[in-house]
Amino acid sequence: MYFKELNLSQEILKAVEELGFTEMTEIQQKSIPLILEGQDVIGHSNTGTGKTAAFGIPAVESISDTGNISVLVMCPTRELAMQAYEEIRKFARYKKGVKAVCVYGGASMDKQIHELKRRANIVIGTPGRILDHIRRRTLKLNNIRYVVLDEADEMLNMGFREDIEAILSEVPEDRQTVLFSATMPPAILAITETYQKNPVHVEIKSTQKTVELIEQYYYEVAMGRKTDALKLLLKAYAPKSSMVFCNTKKMVDDLTEELVKSGFRAVGIHGDMKQSQRTQVMNSFRNKSVEILVTTDVTARGIDVTGVDAVFNYDLPQDNEYYIHRTGRTGRAGHTGTAYTLISGRRQFYELREIERYTKADIIEKSLPEKSEIISMKKYEIISEIASVNETVREADDVLEKLAESGIDYRETALRLISEKLKSETENIPEFEKPRPLKKGRKGTQTVKVDINIGRNKRIAPNFILGALVDATGMSGRDFGKIDIFDTHTTVEIPEAEKDYILDSTNPMKINGNKVEVKLYKGTEVRNRRNDSPKKPEFDRKARAYGNRKKNEVYDYIPNRSKRTKKRH
Ligand code: ADP
Ligand code: MG
Repeated sequence: MYFKELNLSQEILKAVEELGFTEMTEIQQKSIPLILEGQDVIGHSNTGTGKTAAFGIPAVESISDTGNISVLVMCPTRELAMQAYEEIRKFARYKKGVKAVCVYGGASMDKQIHELKRRANIVIGTPGRILDHIRRRTLKLNNIRYVVLDEADEMLNMGFREDIEAILSEVPEDRQTVLFSATMPPAILAITETYQKNPVHVEIKSTQKTVELIEQYYYEVAMGRKTDALKLLLKAYAPKSSMVFCNTKKMVDDLTEELVKSGFRAVGIHGDMKQSQRTQVMNSFRNKSVEILVTTDVTARGIDVTGVDAVFNYDLPQDNEYYIHRTGRTGRAGHTGTAYTLISGRRQFYELREIERYTKADIIEKSLPEKSEIISMKKYEIISEIASVNETVREADDVLEKLAESGIDYRETALRLISEKLKSETENIPEFEKPRPLKKGRKGTQTVKVDINIGRNKRIAPNFILGALVDATGMSGRDFGKIDIFDTHTTVEIPEAEKDYILDSTNPMKINGNKVEVKLYKGTEVRNRRNDSPKKPEFDRKARAYGNRKKNEVYDYIPNRSKRTKKRH
């Protein structure tokens, strides 16, 4: 469906067309008509699906009289507020009398007050600062007819719930309220129940959409070598514009410093920086004068910068949903992009596996490129770089001649220059040992047993044990082998390579409410089924042996029986 098919004013259609929008995105198709009708809407879709236009176009369209604030948009961060503000201004370009103002903390109050006084009719801002203005009576709510909560889940995550509620309870009741969120936790539903009227829930389930065009890789790196690995990847792939995600502000600062020291054009951004600094950093990243933006999730959420070629997860995101947000910073608006994730240690390996399950993405294991590979990549780059030069400078000719006179012929000159270039592109590349493969084939996996001090006396069934192990380790049920339950203890077959990790992550562990201890099993005790279950009638044992599904469920997890399991399906 095209924007043209909507009942929009010519001014807005013209502006939208100039922005290059012709067809609506799914969320826009489903929500804009409802919003234009005056419906309250809950819009549930992923990042990068065009939500700003979904609420912004109706916002601009709704402005009729001038001089009264009738639209209020709340966003979680200053950057997002500014971004929404910029986009709304673009929609309003040809419509007379629309005046949007952006208010956020960390910037001059006076300037914002001055702007608000100048016949503003759309206010976009962060909840904290909006509330500030309300309390100072520099922002009047009595004419507001349309309220937008953008990235509502993130606003709640950031602790804005009370501020939002305080604002909403002061806005006139006969308003329209529209809420957008990438996830729908119960807290959001509580807000919609209290503050929206018969909202229509519009959900776009295309988790894949944003991530489809993004190639996703991960690298396993020894503890403490992530910075080197990052430098190596930045050197090797030399993305023109990339974002590096860290989980803490300190990490952002340290890593930025480290990258700059190594000659990369990197800048850091996080919530502790002054607004003016943040704006400056964002601008330099947007206009590509710096290549690498090192950032926390808070400052990066929803940020729309085009032409980001690569995203690096230096730290694994703490929340699966963030993985999608982060990778969604590249591959925007139909471009391709690459996401690289660095992991160290078993725990992160399993966390990544969980992310893979959650996002349904294919995150492919790669090993860090070796120096020789990087050199040959750079050779090709140099070839195409030199081949693409089509303007030469006369003065260069003189230099060449002078060199020839002193005995360095053309070929020698070229060789020296190319070598210089190759050297500068490939020097200081951190060296890595060849990594051992993480996932060994399941066939022939060496196994050992662990012993858990709980058994039949506590009415324990294999699935309790397995559930607890999967829970504690993040591994898959299939990684565990045979489970034998004895009267007072249980043994479980585990991959030998994982034993330290498993022992580490299962102490302490609870099974069915009982605190248990997990140790390496040294015994040789083999469960004797006949003696163990004397009361079981004969036919049941047979049924088990011949593949009674229910009883066999537990065997699905035994690696050396996996063939049998496969055949059955
Ligand atoms: P979200 O808020 O859902 O994360 P944005 O509103 O930031 O997404 O939009 C993502 C990008 O898509 C922006 O660059 C925006 O200009 C662009 N965009 C939005 N709607 C359309 C459309 N209908 N056609 C083309 N590009 C669009
Ligand atoms: Mg958005």
